[in-house]
Amino acid sequence: MKDTDRFWSPALRGLRAYTPGEQPQGDGWIKLNTNENPYPPSALALQRMAEVVNDSLRLYPDPQALALRETIAGQHGLQVDQVFVGNGSDEVLAHAFMGLLRHGRPVLVPDISYSFYPVYCGLYGITCQQVPLDDDFRVRVADYLQPNGGVVLPNPNAPTGIVLPLDALRWLLERNTESVVVIDEAYVDFGAESAAALINEFPQLLVIQTLSKSRALAGLRVGFALGHADLIRALTTVKDSFNSYPLDRVALAGAQAALADQAHFTDTTQRIVASREWLATRLAALGFECLPSSANFLLARHPQRSAAQLQQALRERKILVRHFNQPRIADHLRITVGSQAECEALVDALSDLLAPIQ
Ligand code: PMP
Repeated sequence: MKDTDRFWSPALRGLRAYTPGEQPQGDGWIKLNTNENPYPPSALALQRMAEVVNDSLRLYPDPQALALRETIAGQHGLQVDQVFVGNGSDEVLAHAFMGLLRHGRPVLVPDISYSFYPVYCGLYGITCQQVPLDDDFRVRVADYLQPNGGVVLPNPNAPTGIVLPLDALRWLLERNTESVVVIDEAYVDFGAESAAALINEFPQLLVIQTLSKSRALAGLRVGFALGHADLIRALTTVKDSFNSYPLDRVALAGAQAALADQAHFTDTTQRIVASREWLATRLAALGFECLPSSANFLLARHPQRSAAQLQQALRERKILVRHFNQPRIADHLRITVGSQAECEALVDALSDLLAPIQ
């Protein structure tokens, strides 16, 4: 501890901040490490953004983000007061942890899930209770019935990619009625059913989505939450206490156009799902064991090779994949599904690396 650390808030001492995935400098990388979309964003969205990069930037953006929230509400059959928008789902999640999870009781999250959740808990002084997955890496909803200050489940789960059926979520929501249940649907568009359909039945349900993955706009930082108007009011209260402008003018324009461009969305998500299935088959042929993924990534292990060494060997070939130094998945690699050409380059590199033991 340095002498100047005494100036830090006690909440920050001992906090282990989240380590983001590598964003390499320079060209020529095949980036399969941070679950970005390999395809360009909607051309309509790019055009709308270019149209607002002008004198209009003198003016503040709409603090209510009304037009964007109306578009999102319309797409999910909800009212505008049931929609909250923020700078990426990370920010929306942070507001939910601060404003909606009860800090006196443990918040339940799967032990293998998005590693930001324990960080938010640490930041806001919440006890985080990590609930083990079953032997097949699945979330067992019956394990989430103990007294809690909230439940947070990514669906599909990350980094496993495994989806929880809506029936299982309904079962949990019928029983866990005294605390908020956050369903983080960052990857929902690659093969899961959205829990947004349950919002009008369950006032404790908050569904969070992002434009970073299926809409190919990770760089724009737009995420949103759907839920009962009173939950949304809590998030708005937190937001207004930090920064009363949820999104800038460029992000508002781009997000709205991207959400309206259904043709681009369908085309790119279908291509990614087709490449995921192709990649899973090819990895299996190379001896990998892959968990069944409904997301835009695969979690895979090779029984005879160290995941950390494979990651390093791929890196030397300018291919980035993710390795988590966490118990139970330390022998796995998380591989983002890239374009078909990128997936083929990965399979070629792995065939080469594994050749001596085949
Ligand atoms: N939730 C999960 C499960 C994620 O994997 C990610 C992306 N790393 C996020 C939320 C955050 O995404 P963003 O802030 O880009 O919307």
